[in-house]
Amino acid sequence: FHFAAPANEPVYSYTPGSPERDALKKQLAAFKSQQADIPMYIGGKEVRTGKTKDLRPPHEIKHKLGHFHYGDATHVNDAIAAALAARSQWADTPWEQRAAIFLRAAELMATKYRYHMNAATMLGQSKNAYQAEIDSACELIDFLRFNVHYLSEIYNQQPVSSAGIHNRLEYRPLEGFVLAVTPFNFTAIAGNLPTSAAMCGNVVVWKPADTQVFAANVTMQILIEAGLPAGVINLVYADGPVLGDVCFSHPEFAGIHFTGSTAVFQHMWASIGNNISKYKAYPRIVGETGGKDFVIAHKSADVDVVATALARGAFEYQGQKCSAASRAYLPSNIAEAVKTKLVADLKTMKQGTVEDFSNFVNAVIDERSFDKIAKYIDNAKSSSSAKIIAGGGYNKSEGYFVEPTVIEVTDPKYVTMCEEIFGPVLSIYVYDAEKFEETLALVDSSSMYALTGSIISQDRYAIDLATKKLVNSAGNFYINDKPTGAVVGQQPFGGARASGTNDKAGSMLNLYRWLSARTIKETF
Ligand code: GLU
Repeated sequence: FHFAAPANEPVYSYTPGSPERDALKKQLAAFKSQQADIPMYIGGKEVRTGKTKDLRPPHEIKHKLGHFHYGDATHVNDAIAAALAARSQWADTPWEQRAAIFLRAAELMATKYRYHMNAATMLGQSKNAYQAEIDSACELIDFLRFNVHYLSEIYNQQPVSSAGIHNRLEYRPLEGFVLAVTPFNFTAIAGNLPTSAAMCGNVVVWKPADTQVFAANVTMQILIEAGLPAGVINLVYADGPVLGDVCFSHPEFAGIHFTGSTAVFQHMWASIGNNISKYKAYPRIVGETGGKDFVIAHKSADVDVVATALARGAFEYQGQKCSAASRAYLPSNIAEAVKTKLVADLKTMKQGTVEDFSNFVNAVIDERSFDKIAKYIDNAKSSSSAKIIAGGGYNKSEGYFVEPTVIEVTDPKYVTMCEEIFGPVLSIYVYDAEKFEETLALVDSSSMYALTGSIISQDRYAIDLATKKLVNSAGNFYINDKPTGAVVGQQPFGGARASGTNDKAGSMLNLYRWLSARTIKETF
């Protein structure tokens, strides 16, 4: 069974008066008028504990969307047991049968449930319609289809045989269960981490961020409707430490597929290390863990290209993409023009709820995040190394609203130039336009992360120099574009250093991690 490379799922535009826009608005209203009662899914059964947490849109915190049932160590143990019980039948299911389930799920997401996926993401995670469309519709559909393609390529990679000897590689799943711990910021990533491992024949315990449960639930329902057998993916909601204690001390723990913060990933890695002698096999540890993504403009750069890359790269989805532009290095010859254009662009960005489709900016995810971002802004307000040149306001009375904020710094190592903020805050440093090469060294040394970054230049030698000097500074490096918006099948995504293990999502590099091959030699 060979599945050829698919085309990317087309992006709907939701223009005023279009049937898509009406359908999406209807689904938003439907979700808002009902109170969802969201269970966990363990071994094919819905589990309601009665211990619930409320779900509220980050941009409208007085409205309740419903609640979800929370589990404890018992439920995590039950999820592991259900996964292990499903393992041998799932691992032995022919690949083309497994693939059909994920292709069917992609089809359901592209058609019958496209608006469910998008509306859930818009309300639950405060994404505007376009940002939801490229995430919970297109990117997740692409992950499912492209991963089927990549996996079929892997299965076809076979060793040579010779006279009297027949060799083959059998790509087995890992022995045990895989834990998927997924973030709030992309419904696509939340869906990809459990499904990519499951597609390879693994059984999975999936724990999404509490703030992504509304859309995770829709994703799970679609997988079930597509025919995913009971126990293959078990969706649980639990506190991180409880989950970690149970999963990392289990002898059948086979690997973790993670996207989230560097601190959490390092903590997990350490506890896996502490338990290493308990496991049947060395666990696979795969994580994508944050960024401090740069844009460096060369003196030859086009002013509009730089300003647009910054406006979109830094402020789409309120800067809550691991890939978001958060530090910019502008050459002195065009810096003033770029800042003027950028500040003018920001004035046209409306902020508010997701139901008003003219809003470009919505709310940040929760109060903790809001408070953290506000602290960085306050720090800049009182620092002699920083000056706020746009935005700077925040208000959490109706929702967690932070204005798109631009901070100009005089010290290139000022805290907002180095630390991940994960919000709509961009820092700018103006460098001497004749000191491009020195500034490249500064870009490389200013943060521990290496996820995404961009060079903007019309000078090919400058592009070449930046590409060479920043070789380890970004796992995804973009020339003359913003650093966000990787497309599955086109720009495999992932970073190194403190940004992760760089097992590019949506590529063979990632899928190999969920396989444990057996070499079989037969002599005639
Ligand atoms: N893949 C996304 C992008 O290219 C970012 C993923 C993330 O935030 O983790 O913008």
